[in-house]
Amino acid sequence: MGLKIDIAAILANHAALAAKASAARAAAVVKADAYGLGAARVAPALYAAGVRDFFVALASEGQAIRSHLPDDARVLVLSGHMDGADLTGLTPVLNSPAQFFRDRTMRPGQPFAIQLDSGMNRLGMEAAEWAALRDEALAARPVLIMSHLACADEPDHPANAAQLATFRAMTDGCGVPRSLAATGGILLGPDYHFDLVRPGIGLYGGMPFAEARPVVRLSLRVIQTREVKAGEMVGYGATWHAARDSRIATVDAGYADGILRSLSSSGAMLYAGDTACPVVGRVSMDLITVDVTDLATVPDELDLICPQQPIDSLADLAGTIGYEILTSLRQRYPRTYL
Ligand SMILES: *Cc1c(COP(=O)(O)O)cnc(C)c1O
Repeated sequence: MGLKIDIAAILANHAALAAKASAARAAAVVKADAYGLGAARVAPALYAAGVRDFFVALASEGQAIRSHLPDDARVLVLSGHMDGADLTGLTPVLNSPAQFFRDRTMRPGQPFAIQLDSGMNRLGMEAAEWAALRDEALAARPVLIMSHLACADEPDHPANAAQLATFRAMTDGCGVPRSLAATGGILLGPDYHFDLVRPGIGLYGGMPFAEARPVVRLSLRVIQTREVKAGEMVGYGATWHAARDSRIATVDAGYADGILRSLSSSGAMLYAGDTACPVVGRVSMDLITVDVTDLATVPDELDLICPQQPIDSLADLAGTIGYEILTSLRQRYPRTYL
C-alpha cells in the first residue's frame, strides 16, 4: 500500500525529454522536494544517469540535496540570493539588481546565474534593469542566463514567440550559456532550447508531456466494508444517497493526505485492477468512501492514482493541474521507490 514512485520511469522521462532537446544540456527541476516525490531519492538517481544541473526554489531545498550529490553537480536556487540564505555550495539565480549587488558583495568569485523577465512579470530583471547592469554582470561571468515562459503548455499562444523574441533581444551576443525552456518549452521545438533545458513536471509523468511514462501509483487500504440500503446516506453532509442497495468500502486516506476535498462528488474513481469504483460522498480528513457494489470481491487495496486514472485526470476532476496533485501528496503514506 501507499505511494509507489517509479525512479526508472523518471529517468526514462528525462532521457526522452533530453532527446527532444539534444542540442542542449538537460537539467532537472527538483524543487518542492522533487514535486513531492522525494528529492533525496530522485536527484541522486538523475545524477547517476548523467544529469549535472539541478534547480530548486529555495536555498534550504538546495542544502537538503547538496549532501546527496557529488561536487560536480550544480544546484541552482531559483529564488536567488535572499537575505540570510545559506548558499554554501549552491548557485543562486539572481532575479534583481538588488540581489546581484548583495550576492557580488557577499559571495565575490562564487558562481551565480541571472534570471531575466521576458514578459511573465514574475521573477527576473526587467529589460531596463538589465540594460543598465549588463556589462557589469557579464564581466562577473554568470554561469547561466535564463528566463521562463508563461504559456508554454499552449503551443499556439502568441506569448511564446513574443517571449522568445524578447529573450533573444536581451541576450544575443552575451557569450554566456542560456536557458528558456521548461517541459512545455522543450515541446515547442529547437528555437526554444538554447544551451540548457529545465524539465520538471514531465519527469514526474505530468502534462504537457503526453508521452510521459507514469511515475506514481497511490494505493489505499480498505478499512471496512458495509451494506447500505437504497435511500441511505453516506458521509458528511449526507451529500450522497444510495440509489440501490449498495456495498460501501471505506479507505484509509483523505484530505490530510493531500487527496483534495474537491474530489468529492467529482466523478473520481478508485480502481480495483481495471474496474472503476466511484468515490461517493465527501472526502473526509482521513477517509474516503467508495461504491464497490459491482465488485465480486473487495480487494485489500484500491488505487487512486494508477494508469487508469493518472495525475492529470485526477487534476481535471479536482479543478486543478497535475503539479498540484503531486505536490499535495503528503508524507503520511508509506513510500516505496521502484
Ligand atoms: C518550475 C520551473 C521549471 C520546471 O517547469 P515544469 O513545467 O515543471 O517543467 C523550470 N523553470 C522554472 C523557472 C520553474 O519555476
